[in-house]
Amino acid sequence: MHKVYLRFYEELNDFLPEEKRKKRFAHQYIDRTSVKDLIESLGVPHTEVDLILVNGKSVNFKYLINDGDDISIYPVFESLDISDVQHLRPKPLRKPKFIADVHLGRLTKYLRMIGLDVLYKNNFEDDEIVSISIKEKRAILTKDRGILKRNEVTHGYWVRATKAEAQAKEVLERFDLQKEIKEFSRCIECNDLLKPIKKEKIINELPPKVAKLQNEFYKCPSCNKFYWKGSHYQHMLAFIQSLKNIKY
Ligand SMILES: [Zn+2]
Repeated sequence: MHKVYLRFYEELNDFLPEEKRKKRFAHQYIDRTSVKDLIESLGVPHTEVDLILVNGKSVNFKYLINDGDDISIYPVFESLDISDVQHLRPKPLRKPKFIADVHLGRLTKYLRMIGLDVLYKNNFEDDEIVSISIKEKRAILTKDRGILKRNEVTHGYWVRATKAEAQAKEVLERFDLQKEIKEFSRCIECNDLLKPIKKEKIINELPPKVAKLQNEFYKCPSCNKFYWKGSHYQHMLAFIQSLKNIKY
């Protein structure tokens, strides 16, 4: 029986059982595996990992473990004062775009409400999510760690929170998107970009009270839904304010 020592840092500990969190622990193995397979066998998807040090030197996912290795595993965005290391993530996606799994319909609506580009269908298959993510350079948002363990997935995030508002905050924080917030820019139903539209053009299609009280309107070119600053607007503003106030 061979042995390696492991230490996971920061939020990677979310995936581990209590006794393995935030401490160095020994792990016994019979067959040599890649460090990627070892990490994932402990429940941590490789998309969460940005840096692996073995005996103080950075390695890639293909590194084959050796008896006695001392392995430190760091998450994406963990700031480190170490130069000349091999970061494992490809460069961050410049304009973040997402594809959400079937469990994240409410989160999708929150993210679209603040202007983020999120593809979602309640019948997406895992294979479809993976192939769209690669083709369109979209980060996968998921409640299912399994999908993030696939080799071909490069950008993904396992959403921890269970309530949609908390999930939205979590995603914004993780992808550092506070500056991207832009309300009334995207259709909550279908993800298309909204266009401003003059009141006179649609006045006959509006409920009379809305026509009387509101002057600013947006229309979705795909599903033809109208948007205005109605009663939900105050709630939305409060939510956006809370997102902008996320502390670091
Ligand atoms: Zn729409």
